[in-house]
Amino acid sequence: MKNKNGKIHIYIGDGKGKTTAALGLAMRARGAGLKVIVLQFLKKGKYSELKSLQKLGVKVEQLGRRNFCNPKKVKPDEKKKAQAGVMLASDIIFSKKYDMVILDEINVAIKFCLIQEEELIDLLKLKPKGVELILTGRGLPKQLIKLADYVTEMKPIKHPFKNGLEARLGIEE
Ligand code: ATP
Ligand code: MG
Repeated sequence: MKNKNGKIHIYIGDGKGKTTAALGLAMRARGAGLKVIVLQFLKKGKYSELKSLQKLGVKVEQLGRRNFCNPKKVKPDEKKKAQAGVMLASDIIFSKKYDMVILDEINVAIKFCLIQEEELIDLLKLKPKGVELILTGRGLPKQLIKLADYVTEMKPIKHPFKNGLEARLGIEE
């Protein structure tokens, strides 16, 4: 592992930029020769970044579907996928094969009750020193925020989604 002093980052908030900030870090890390993997929770589909990440030599795994679920009506299969994602994240982090591990939208999986915040506490506390760990997504995982080193909230001042503009190719997806 190249990184000796890995930190924990969390991107939260309703504004644009959580996933793109994490991907920006991935790009920078690859420039320094760090090994990077992205696990996308609740995302399935051909996001434009998949092609770019492949070119950069960043591995990506998609876990679950892109949908909004009701925390009061958790679907067992969605929960299973999210749980499998946590196991995979844990295996990857402790394997020490990657210098940077990005858990994209994992905060949303917590918000939707597919994952309990408690399940991730040990992961954050016990992660190998060399791993830089990045969590993104709307939500407020208070216990994880306490354990993180960098916590950044994206605050929307304006977002065209409010005026009905759908996600655009190459910009949001
Ligand atoms: P990006 O991937 O552009 O960095 P993000 O990771 O910060 O965005 P997410 O919470 O993952 O944002 O969701 C982005 C999706 O939600 C987009 O398709 C966007 O159109 C939609 N959306 C709805 N409202 C907002 C808002 N206030 N801010 C950002 N995205 C929004
Ligand atoms: Mg995102």
